[in-house]
Amino acid sequence: MAHSQAGYVGRFAPSPTGPLHFGSLCSALASYLDARAHNGHWLLRIENLDPPREQVGADQAIIESLKAHRLIWDGEVLWQSDRLTAYQDALDQLLSAEHAFHCSCSRAQLASRNGIHRGSCIAPLNRNDAAVRLRTNHQTYTIDDRLLGPQQHRVEDGGDVVLKRRDGLFAYQLAVVVDDAYSGITDVVRGSDLLSSTAWQWLLQECLNYSHPRYLHLPLLTDDKGDKLSKRSHAPALDNSCAEDNIRTALRYLGQPSPPPLGSLDAVLTWAAQHWHAGAIPHSDIVVR
Ligand code: GLU
Repeated sequence: MAHSQAGYVGRFAPSPTGPLHFGSLCSALASYLDARAHNGHWLLRIENLDPPREQVGADQAIIESLKAHRLIWDGEVLWQSDRLTAYQDALDQLLSAEHAFHCSCSRAQLASRNGIHRGSCIAPLNRNDAAVRLRTNHQTYTIDDRLLGPQQHRVEDGGDVVLKRRDGLFAYQLAVVVDDAYSGITDVVRGSDLLSSTAWQWLLQECLNYSHPRYLHLPLLTDDKGDKLSKRSHAPALDNSCAEDNIRTALRYLGQPSPPPLGSLDAVLTWAAQHWHAGAIPHSDIVVR
């Protein structure tokens, strides 16, 4: 669904690096309920841009889990692997406007300059062996987060971020911005591990003349040692056979009221959308025991 006219378009954009776990269920549920509470569309985008990091079958496992939890998206799934031409077009636009540049520096070379080229990029002779990076600026953006309030981001803190890797793979930062604009996303609801990416994405939206979506960054679920539940930390996959219990638990983590017994998961989700209050989501990380 390109360039939707709807007033609110949200999305869930998992990377298929493993099955859904409780943390990703909370992100999916929050973005779903926020969209439904606004009578908006909710889209699904599978961010399968980085084959070496992906787990075989995780894309279908994620889709099955979403269906089992009755988090049903609108329209077709958007697969990032089908969008490479769009990323290259955006990259060419950034290169010709000199917002981006080829770079063959190693991580160590860049780290010695805080990740930023000080005017003298070692313009590589062989561009096929170079990454493409976004030229950072010295601006501080104040980006209003719907949950956390105004967030100050200095773009240069992150350095000249990679947009296309030396091995030819497009980077998340570019793809997410191109796809959010393509799908007409008005509202991004996602985990606060991506808060620090927002400045690059904001800058890219400016460079590509896209409008900015609104952002809401959710607290992270952590174990009792404070480590984020993630595929990397081997958080257990969701048990699809207890979908309603999982949704009820996720609602509790998200600070939402508890639905009464309603007879079906669809009815629970409808009730939860009617009672959705984004302002009640906790600001700090949630410890899962
Ligand atoms: N693909 C990213 C992830 O699974 C999320 C991207 C986003 O929501 O902006 O962490």
